[in-house]
Amino acid sequence: NPAKTKYHPIEDACWSKGQEVPYLALAKTLQAIEATSARLKMVEILSNYFRSVIALTPEDLLPSIYLCLNQLAPAYHSLELGIAETYLMKAVGQCTGRSLAQVRAAAQRCGDLGAAAEQARAAQRTMFAPPPLSARRVLAALREVAAMTGHASVNKKISKIQALFVACSPCEARYLVRSLEGKLRVGLAEQSALQALAQAAAATPPAGERAGTLDAAAALGAERFKALVDELALVVKTTYCECPNYELIVPALLRHGARALPEHCRLTPGVPLKPMLAHPTRGVHEVFSRFENEEFTCEWKYDGERAQIHVPGDDAPRLADAAIFSRNQENNTSKYPDVLRRLPTLLRASVTSCVLDCEAVAYDVDSKQILPFQVLSTRKRKDAAEADIKVQVCVFVFDLLFLNGRPLVRAPLEERRALLRQHFAEVPGHWSLATARDCRSEEEVQQFLEEAVRGSCEGLMVKALRGEHARYDIARRSRNWLKLKKDYLDGVGDTIDAVVIGAYHGRGKRAGVFGGFLLACYDPDAEQYQSLCKVGTGFSDDDLRSLSERLRPHRLDAPRNYYMCAPALAPDVWLAAALVLELRCADLSLSPAHRAAAGLLHPDKGVSLRFPRFVRVRDDKAPEQATPARQIAQLYAAQDQVRNAAAARAPLD
Ligand code: ATP
Repeated sequence: NPAKTKYHPIEDACWSKGQEVPYLALAKTLQAIEATSARLKMVEILSNYFRSVIALTPEDLLPSIYLCLNQLAPAYHSLELGIAETYLMKAVGQCTGRSLAQVRAAAQRCGDLGAAAEQARAAQRTMFAPPPLSARRVLAALREVAAMTGHASVNKKISKIQALFVACSPCEARYLVRSLEGKLRVGLAEQSALQALAQAAAATPPAGERAGTLDAAAALGAERFKALVDELALVVKTTYCECPNYELIVPALLRHGARALPEHCRLTPGVPLKPMLAHPTRGVHEVFSRFENEEFTCEWKYDGERAQIHVPGDDAPRLADAAIFSRNQENNTSKYPDVLRRLPTLLRASVTSCVLDCEAVAYDVDSKQILPFQVLSTRKRKDAAEADIKVQVCVFVFDLLFLNGRPLVRAPLEERRALLRQHFAEVPGHWSLATARDCRSEEEVQQFLEEAVRGSCEGLMVKALRGEHARYDIARRSRNWLKLKKDYLDGVGDTIDAVVIGAYHGRGKRAGVFGGFLLACYDPDAEQYQSLCKVGTGFSDDDLRSLSERLRPHRLDAPRNYYMCAPALAPDVWLAAALVLELRCADLSLSPAHRAAAGLLHPDKGVSLRFPRFVRVRDDKAPEQATPARQIAQLYAAQDQVRNAAAARAPLD
C-alpha cells in the first residue's frame, strides 16, 4: 500500500521541516543506492529521499538532484571542477594527516580514492564534531571551486576542498571525493533519477499540486498508484527532453505539480536539446526494408560539426542573444562569431524566434567546395576573433525545431521542412538548406548517394517524412533516421567512437610522443570502460604530438577499478577517461583478451576491432557518449560472416 510508504527511512540522517537538508542524508542515500544493483530498488531509495525533501525542505530539491547526478549546472554552462587527481589526493592527505604516497597507496588498495578517503576519515579522532554540511552548501562550494580559474586557482581550490573535507563524516567523505573526481559510481542513470522524481511527486505531491491528490494517491491501491507513477514519469521525462534544465523544471514541479509541467517548461530558445541521432545501415536494401510501407526522404550527410542555432525573440528576433550549441549541448557561440554575424541574412522578415538543427562545414569560398572535417577541426575552439578566422564555414540547415514561439518537434518532417523553406533564405557559401530528394527506388537512392559522395559528403541521411514516425525524436538514436555512409556499405556499417584509457610510448621516429593508444568502449549499465583495441595507425606526426600534449595531464598511477582490461594489454601509461577517438576498422571479432561487450555474446570473450585506424578526435563527445558496449555487440552480430555462420549452424540447433 503506497500510503504506508515511509519518509526517508535512513535512521541517522533525518532532519526537521524547514531545516537545510544535511549532506549526510544525501550521502547515505547514495550509499544505499550503491549497495543495490536492482534499478527499481535504486529508484525507490532515491524517490524516498526526494519525498522527504519535498515534504520538509522543498528548496533543497534542486541541489539534491544536481548532487545525486554529479552535475553542477546545465551542461551548456560548461562548469567543470578541473581538479587533477594528485591535488585531490594531496588535499585528502593534508586533512587526514597522511602523506601523498600513503593516500595514493590506499587509493590503489581500495581501487577508489573515495573509499580511501572514507577509511582515512574513519580512522581519525576529532575533538569537536564540526557543524554538519548541508546539501545546498556543498553544491555552492563545488560551484565556487569550478568557478576558480587562472594561475593561482589551484591552491584556492585545494583550500576550499579542505574546508569541506574537514567537516565530512566518513560516508560524506566518500561521496564528496567522488564528486570532485567527477564520477559518483553508484550506478544511477539520469533516466532513473527522473523516474524517482516522478515517483516522489506521485507519492508526496508538492504543495502546488491540486488539493486532494495526496489522498487520491493514497487511496489508489498499488496497481493504480503504479499507473499514476508511469503517467507522471512519462510527463517528467518528456518535459526534461524538451527543456533539459533542472533550474526551470524543479521550481515548476514544486509549484504546479508534475502533471502541469508541460504547460510551464517547454522547448525554449536558449536551452539546448539533446539531438536526434541516426541508426547506421549497411546498404540501400536495409533502408528499403525499414521504410517498406512508409514515405521517406534522403538528405546529404555533411561532414562537419553539429550546430544547434537558437534565436530567442518575442515580436522580433533578439539576435544579440542568439547562441550556437554543440551536439553535446556545449555553448559554441564564441567559436562562431562569423556565423552569428551573418544570421540576419538567413532569417526572413517573418521569423521572430527559432531553433535550427544544422551542420557547420569547412568551406572553400573560391572553389565553392566543401572541405574535409579535418580542416574544420583546426578552427579555434573558443573565443575566436573574427579577424583571425582562417577556415570559413558554410552552415547546412537540415531541421527546424521551433519557430515563432511554437515548438515543432511533434510536427512531421514534411511540415518542418516546408516551414524551413518558407521562412529561411539560402545565401551561397554561408547558408544552405540540406540537399534533399524524395527517392522512391533503390536505384534512385544509390544514385543520390553517389552524388552526395561526389559533393564531398559522407553519405546520406534517410528520414521518415510523414506521420507519427516523422517527428523529431529528441535525445534518441532513432530508426526514423538512418545513416548510409559510402565507406561502410559492405563493412561494419559505421565508425566507432572509443575512449582512450592508456598509451604506449613511441619508438624510433615517434620517440618522445605517444605512438599508440589503448581504447575502450563504455558500458553505461556497469559504468565500466572495457578495452576494445590498441590503435597506432592513421595518425600523422602532428596528430600524435597534439594527442600526447592533450593526454599527458590525464596520466594515472594505476588503472581505475572500472577499467576492464586483461593484464597482458597493460599500456605504458594509464590515462583518465577524457578523450574520445573515432575509429574505422576492417571488422569486429571475438577476442579472449579484450573485454568490450564481454558476456553479451560469449561468456568469457569480448569483442575487439580488427585493423583499427584513427579517423579523428571527437571533441563533441564526452567519454560516456562513446559507442556503448551493447552497440559493439550489435555491430559484431550484424556482420555478414557472423550472420551467415549463425544461419549455417541453425539447422543443427
Ligand atoms: P554517432 O557517432 O554517435 O553515431 P554522430 O554525431 O556521428 O553520432 P550520426 O548519428 O552518425 O551522428 O549522424 C548524425 C550526424 O550527422 C548529426 O549529428 C549531424 O552532425 C550530421 N549530419 C550531417 N548532415 C545531416 C543531415 N542532413 N541530417 C542530420 N544530420 C546530419
